[in-house]
Amino acid sequence: MSNWFYHQAGRQIGPVTEQDLKNLLQSRTLAPGTLVWTEGMQQWQEAATIHNLIPPASPPPPPGSGLRLQTQTPAPPPPPQSVAATAQTHALGACPLCGLEKHMNKGKPLYGHKVCKSCYYKFANRRQAAFFVDIMIWRFIMTPVGMVLGTALALLGMSQAGIQGVASLLGLLLLPVFYCKDCFSGYSPGKKLCGVRTVDTTTGAPAGIIASFKRNLPLLIPFMPIIVAGRLCKGHRTGDGWSNTKVIWQKYATSSVFAPKQPAP
Ligand SMILES: [Zn+2]
Repeated sequence: MSNWFYHQAGRQIGPVTEQDLKNLLQSRTLAPGTLVWTEGMQQWQEAATIHNLIPPASPPPPPGSGLRLQTQTPAPPPPPQSVAATAQTHALGACPLCGLEKHMNKGKPLYGHKVCKSCYYKFANRRQAAFFVDIMIWRFIMTPVGMVLGTALALLGMSQAGIQGVASLLGLLLLPVFYCKDCFSGYSPGKKLCGVRTVDTTTGAPAGIIASFKRNLPLLIPFMPIIVAGRLCKGHRTGDGWSNTKVIWQKYATSSVFAPKQPAP
């Protein structure tokens, strides 16, 4: 006996046996106008129009109703096999960032959303690149400063050890300046270059000088920069919690992954 599918309340149900379908129609659980389909049929048809499906005991549909209903119903959906196949490819869903499905089978969580493997690593790479660009820029600025200072102090007759001491102290004193790197509208030079930005988690507004300082302060702890660099790809990193910030991918700023909890008015 063949398997049948039918439509009820806008949903496709089945497969059911022919006997089950007959019972449903006979008990009036399903109306005679219910669209049904089984293998071999070109398209969905009303149960009443199919020979032998509704027992003779049931009254025939009012004249003309079959035709009228048929013109009212929208184009029949494709047969169940193809519907099932489509559902399978859609099960993983599209990546909320790039909109593609192909890398979703190895998707990873980012800020509580599943994104595709490709976007996940692209974002992590951008953040890590930004981090290293910032450190390089900082070194680039600090090296000539240190050299000028060192030369000046040597001319003043300061010992080598003394100069090194002053240089270390100065480096430490200037570090807080480095920690404010995210305060330029949420961009550090490296972040600007790599298309990522630090924003307030709640409002989505660019991180200010205080938030920037707070989130970068943990970098003062020895080895913390290495731990932070390793954790960048997880989304929130050490320092983001208490400064209430997160780094977003500017290109996808409006996606659900990076959208603020409550957008600023
Ligand atoms: Zn993606």
